[in-house]
Amino acid sequence: MTYIITQPCEGVCNTSCVEVCPVDCIYPPPGFTLSPEDKARMKTQGAMLYIHPEECIDCGACEPECPVNAIFPDDEVPEKWKEYIAINYQRFGLPLPDDRDPEEDFFEF
Ligand code: SF4
Ligand code: SF4
Repeated sequence: MTYIITQPCEGVCNTSCVEVCPVDCIYPPPGFTLSPEDKARMKTQGAMLYIHPEECIDCGACEPECPVNAIFPDDEVPEKWKEYIAINYQRFGLPLPDDRDPEEDFFEF
């Protein structure tokens, strides 16, 4: 299991989650850092942060810190944001785990 960041993070990117993650597994998009300048750039561009699925230890510390409720355990991601499961995996070049159904919508984006 892993936690997943979803749509409400886009353009918010306030990094509250990063500050509490004990294993530093929450990352900006490629080409960005967490510097104040890049954070401002991420907001302007509607970018979001991503949780590395293989580094996350499922502690849940990030979830209540998010001001826009963008973070969910992967098995509780709301239907309308299921595609973000694949989006988080793809950020790190990782395939979805074998127990995911390849016919499900979140593979098609
Ligand atoms: S669940 Fe824990 S380990 Fe995973 S991203 Fe959130 S704070 Fe980090
Ligand atoms: S706390 Fe929420 S909005 Fe802020 S960076 Fe993390 S997931 Fe995005």
